[in-house]
Amino acid sequence: MKCLSCENISLQIICKKCQENLLIPSFHKRELEHGFYNYSFYSFSEIEKFIISKYYFHGDRIFNILASLSFKQFANNFDFSETVYSIGIDEHTRHEFSQTAILSRHLKSKNIVPLFNKLKATNIVKYAGHNLEFRQKNKRKFKTTLTNKKIILVDDLITTGTTILEAKKALESKNNEVLFSLTLADAKI
Ligand SMILES: [Zn+2]
Repeated sequence: MKCLSCENISLQIICKKCQENLLIPSFHKRELEHGFYNYSFYSFSEIEKFIISKYYFHGDRIFNILASLSFKQFANNFDFSETVYSIGIDEHTRHEFSQTAILSRHLKSKNIVPLFNKLKATNIVKYAGHNLEFRQKNKRKFKTTLTNKKIILVDDLITTGTTILEAKKALESKNNEVLFSLTLADAKI
């Protein structure tokens, strides 16, 4: 087959050379509210082709490769004094696989335990192509059963940050502490 990125012939959907380039992510930090940060591994332009793959059947393979190059490396270097739980935002999407669940699963490590189906959006809205005002008017209305946990939020892409902050608020209302959020890419870079 052809590498999705460079289009050279490759055994894998992303060739070895392109994977090596992605293995050195440019870590980006963005403050979403006072003292709360989102960290992303790539700029949107760097991996736009791959992010769009979530709408296609081969998207799970792409996300598994990207997650092992970024989220997994991060988790292996993450040291914390107690157990932290990772939660994917919008896990139950209309696609055949959940890209945020794949990313979150790759955080499994000494100090991080991924949890699934613990944060549910009761209002399913598509935000793509809509502005901040639309996003703020049409909230996800997250519900959670988790209490008293330390949490890392996970998403594939951060745009305005509205969804992440809404998820954070829902978790905090049940006495959870959200340490930071991690996304594959930042749309503003
Ligand atoms: Zn390639």
